[in-house]
Amino acid sequence: MAKKQIPATLIPGDGIGTEVTEATLAVLDAVGAPFQWETHLAGLAGVKESGDPLPPATLESIRKTRLALKGPLATPVGGGFRSSNVRLREEFQLYANLRPARTLIPGGRYDKIDLVLVRENLEGLYVGFEHYIPIGDDPHAVALASGVNTRAGGRRIAEFAFDYAAKNGRKKVTIVHKANVLKALTGLFLEAAKDVAKAYEGRVSCDERIIDACAMQLVLNPWQFDLIVTTNLFGDILSDEIAGLVGGLGMAPAGNIGATAAIFEAVHGSAPDIAGKGIANPLALMLSAAMMLDHVGLHDKAKRVRDAIDQVLCVDNIRTGDLGGKASTRDFTRAIVSRVK
Ligand code: NAD
Repeated sequence: MAKKQIPATLIPGDGIGTEVTEATLAVLDAVGAPFQWETHLAGLAGVKESGDPLPPATLESIRKTRLALKGPLATPVGGGFRSSNVRLREEFQLYANLRPARTLIPGGRYDKIDLVLVRENLEGLYVGFEHYIPIGDDPHAVALASGVNTRAGGRRIAEFAFDYAAKNGRKKVTIVHKANVLKALTGLFLEAAKDVAKAYEGRVSCDERIIDACAMQLVLNPWQFDLIVTTNLFGDILSDEIAGLVGGLGMAPAGNIGATAAIFEAVHGSAPDIAGKGIANPLALMLSAAMMLDHVGLHDKAKRVRDAIDQVLCVDNIRTGDLGGKASTRDFTRAIVSRVK
């Protein structure tokens, strides 16, 4: 019987994006993932091809497939175009950024880490309400930014976090905020999330931390956390910190999930310093692809990808340079493909 195909958009991305995407497709192919890819450009690749970092054809494809796997997209710092990643999240209302992190290589500085970060993806200080006020001959004498949090947005992300915890065997949700200083902006988030927590009493416990204390405690004793839910900027920062606990950005996958679409991507960027050298670690995008398989209900295939990764890292001892190994992206991928098979 022919397998049911699942249409999905593929954005290879910039820098190491093409390398880690090619590697991930090889693994998805080996596991028999039924994705029917529509490949489209964005980021610098989009600018080069059509002068647009988010071409209409790319948006149209995701509008149709509602599912995408995306390599990293480069964004100019300071001036230039607005982040295509942020625009994609806004366009498809991908309000939840799901970032699970677990130790893949035992014996590191932190062992047996297994925690999930749920980041609000659309509100807070990332709404882009920024401007300068010129004084005298300095056009950038004053910079202003406004954050926007809504009760509805706080409830929505908290519901996602508690629901995910309840369905995935997580025992505790920690709400992270800065309501002692940003009393309105993050106070409202805390209030909304605590309200949602009441509906889960007896199933998922709840506590709260101030962002700075949480950042320190993640370094001192990360095992006290199970699932963290927080606002956009704090989530951005904490997810990199958490990636550091499990061996760095090369191991951190992410899903951007909304009510009608989902985009899976690595947490890392386009790594221009190593692009084209064939040494990038493709694990983060492979793990993102495993999340994508879970998202469409193909849990057995997702598990096969994760198991193959565990075996290659810990039994075959094949690793890329960032993990202290010598394998190229291609050698590492070949090893995972043969384990999957
Ligand atoms: P980066 O994640 O690209 O790189 C940080 C460091 O980690 C570099 O030394 C890099 O070599 C290393 N690294 C990252 N991924 C790796 C991998 N898979 N294997 C081995 N080493 C890896 O962060 P950056 O340098 O701050 O950003 C570069 C560009 O990427 C910027 O334009 C930024 O806007 C963009 N970016 C995009 C995304 C995204 O698309 N989701 C996320 C972060 C940054």
